[in-house]
Formats: sequence, C-alpha cells, structure tokens
Amino acid sequence: MFNICANCSQEQSNDLKFCTSCGTLLKSCCPECGNELKEEWEYCGSCGHKMGS
Ligand SMILES: [Zn+2]
Ligand SMILES: [Zn+2]
Repeated sequence: MFNICANCSQEQSNDLKFCTSCGTLLKSCCPECGNELKEEWEYCGSCGHKMGS
C-alpha cells in the first residue's frame, strides 16, 4: 500500500508519516489513543477525540 503525497504526488510507503521528498505530513494519529486518522475526520473513529483545527 502507498500514500500519494498531496504536495508533490510522490508515492510514499504506507508506514511513513511524512513525505520523504518534501516533508509534507502524509497522515496523522490521534493524540489521545494513537489511532490512525483520515484527513477528513473531525473526530477520532476510535475514541471520539475531537481534532483541533
Ligand atoms: Zn511530497
Ligand atoms: Zn483517538
């Protein structure tokens, strides 16, 4: 599985959090439970923690 960097469109390994080409954040984790978050989520799907803006 790969993530596509939104900034430079390079394929990045799914286990990376930051693009290795440009340093853009590829994905984020919930600060409360560490669950992997999708960018469009406003609340964590695992623990319901509200994401900061
Ligand atoms: Zn990039
Ligand atoms: Zn959470």
